[in-house]
Amino acid sequence: MVLIRSRRVVLPGGVDAASLEIRDGRITAIGPFDRAVDGADLIDAGDRYLLPGLVDTHVHINEPGRTEWEGFRTATRAAAAGGYTTLVDMPLNNLPETTTAQNLRLKESAARGQSMVDYGFWGGVVADNQEHVGALACAGVLGYKCFLIHPGIDGFTMVTRAQLEAAMPEVAASGLPLLVHAELPGPIEEACARLNASGCDWKRYSTYLASRPDAAEVEAIELMIELSRKYGCRVHIVHLSSTEALHELRLARAEGLPVTVETCPHYLHFGAEDVAVGATLYKCAPPIRSRANRERLWQALEDGDIDLIASDHSPCLPEMKSRGDGSFLEAWGGIASLQLALPVVWTEARRRGSSISQLARWMSTEPAKLAGLDNRKGAIREGNDADLVIFDPDTKFHVDPASLQHRHPITPYAGEMLSGVVEMTLLRGGKVLDHGEFAKEPRGVQCFRV
Ligand SMILES: [Zn+2]
Repeated sequence: MVLIRSRRVVLPGGVDAASLEIRDGRITAIGPFDRAVDGADLIDAGDRYLLPGLVDTHVHINEPGRTEWEGFRTATRAAAAGGYTTLVDMPLNNLPETTTAQNLRLKESAARGQSMVDYGFWGGVVADNQEHVGALACAGVLGYKCFLIHPGIDGFTMVTRAQLEAAMPEVAASGLPLLVHAELPGPIEEACARLNASGCDWKRYSTYLASRPDAAEVEAIELMIELSRKYGCRVHIVHLSSTEALHELRLARAEGLPVTVETCPHYLHFGAEDVAVGATLYKCAPPIRSRANRERLWQALEDGDIDLIASDHSPCLPEMKSRGDGSFLEAWGGIASLQLALPVVWTEARRRGSSISQLARWMSTEPAKLAGLDNRKGAIREGNDADLVIFDPDTKFHVDPASLQHRHPITPYAGEMLSGVVEMTLLRGGKVLDHGEFAKEPRGVQCFRV
């Protein structure tokens, strides 16, 4: 048996001194801090926070097929170093894409025996796989993902409204959520035509920002709200960037529609005004918007209008980021942040007076719920998996790309000063990271809804 204690355990009801008894990988009892148990291995976290292991419902691991971009071994090391104990992998960028039950099996064999943390999979809804949607649910996906715009890579096709409407009855019947990249091509094509006609400079971030206007997000979200109402389908808006969509989302949720929303660390940390000419490491879609928009995203989190924060960890080969020599049009879009998401969000949350309990809700409890894993993950509760993080909230550090564990350690966060260090990560009671040392054997397993 293991006994782990802290004077600041982040429990569902608040932060309190407590000790957790762990047997067979689960939290079997929560008792007073100074309780002694004969024969137990004691881990004393002192004044450090003891957090529930974080759950990231938005990562792109790219294996099999594009393991040279990122693979299970490297991504899950970064996750463990960042305090994540469960990841849910997106169905694209890997080859073949996770759009059939057969392809899901290939994903599963790629992950098996390689993963430092637990994991699950989203299945794709693409232009022509409507007949596979039901089978993917039976095969064990935790939900679906679709794009309303070209995803930046060939193979995983975007869906038109008609294709989406053909798939939605199956999605609704599965009871699983449909995660949506919510940008519509119309406003983006119009903006690009206008920009190109005016002889714009694609090395300026302001050009890229203008090319992906708020309207693209707002109109896509309006469409998804309408379809959620029509088909009774659970819809989850991934990586909300534009706060102009919040009003419609608030109304939809007040109406009782099953619509949830996430945003990402980069939208909560960076501001468009601060991106230098040619700094394509900051490129992602939808784009990082103004500082004022960032403050409104924080307010929406506080108000409960945004449910959760996911990383959208999306790595690539370094040369893809510099393709076009600083052109925001040509560079690959995506920011890899599994290892840094917790200190990034904590640094910003603390500055605005948000609590560690709120952070645990946004980065653990709510994502676990989205993935349907909240019967085991997402909270420090008796009976749950002993997925735990010892987090020192005060120590500051400079981001050194050399310390990053994902496959190609390039990051727009390089050199930034952040607060908060992950000292230890436990997966089902076993240490996967202990003061910079990783476990020798990967112990992560696949998670299913129960
Ligand atoms: Zn993504």
